[in-house]
Amino acid sequence: MRPTGKLHLGNYMGALHNWVRLQHEYECYFFVADLHALTSDYADTSQVKQNTLDVALDFLAAGLDPEQCTVFVQSHVKPHFELPQLLAMITPLGWLERVPTYKEQQENLTTKDLSTYGFLGYPLMMASDILLYQADFVPVGQDQVVHVEFTREVARRFNQFYKAEGSGPRAQGAEILPEPQVLLTPSPKLPGTDGRKMSKSYGNTILLSDPEEVLRQKIRPMVTDPARIRRKDPGDPDKCPVGDLHKVFSSQETLAKVYDGCKTAGIGCIECKGWAADAIVTLLAPIQERRAKYEQNPALVREILHEGDRRARARAEQTMQEVRPAMGLTE
Ligand code: SF4
Repeated sequence: MRPTGKLHLGNYMGALHNWVRLQHEYECYFFVADLHALTSDYADTSQVKQNTLDVALDFLAAGLDPEQCTVFVQSHVKPHFELPQLLAMITPLGWLERVPTYKEQQENLTTKDLSTYGFLGYPLMMASDILLYQADFVPVGQDQVVHVEFTREVARRFNQFYKAEGSGPRAQGAEILPEPQVLLTPSPKLPGTDGRKMSKSYGNTILLSDPEEVLRQKIRPMVTDPARIRRKDPGDPDKCPVGDLHKVFSSQETLAKVYDGCKTAGIGCIECKGWAADAIVTLLAPIQERRAKYEQNPALVREILHEGDRRARARAEQTMQEVRPAMGLTE
């Protein structure tokens, strides 16, 4: 995950929430992608360090358990610099130019000059993030599938050129970089406080670390079904962003009350928003409790990240010890 600052409910429901479950099912590596931030924010890197720490704190607060998975910072594991460079040797330029997000981002982020070598090579960095761990699966939402497909193509090309020399765990002549599979994770539709998709760039987020009062203040003025102009007008939760929040966070019982009360004008929107806030406060309570515990003990967070860096480095280095000789480089 990119270090964009404190994480919001959209980050949680779209990824983190699934990761917390997956850490018990697979050997998992999760990292704060500080190098990714540099590809677009190179002109002002003043926030990268703090944002990296904030995301790491939110990882731990959300329930990533360093006993169950490896949590680390991308730039602390030097093979993340090395493998993209080696993969660059075999990647046709056209493959990079065709990645849909390349053109899209260049057009959308008009305030930044993204005509850089680093930004063009960004998909190779993402491919390396996966291939360094010889990963079987990558947990992503539908919008990231294209990047995993790109990774598969790069791995295939690498494997066509190079085979294991037998210097690592793989037998001589074996493929070194397995083609990863997508592990599609559910990411429910989550509106921000203005009804658009929750996103930091829209300024419509509810943070995992927002205190209860702030959270309620954000939800209170939320847009609702435009058909409910007066209290006595019936509405439809399916046409209301607050209804969408209920679908994600409320119990079946509350959801039934919302549908019934909204469609019969039996409840007011203020009351309904209060219930949505209640459900989110309940969800966030243990997350905020853990965050406070880690915030009070920065030495522990540093120790967890150092240990994560160490484990990730050892695993990534294992791959590099097969990659380097296969490409003709001496160890
Ligand atoms: Fe939306 Fe609830 Fe108001 Fe219905 S009652 S329009 S679901 S806020």
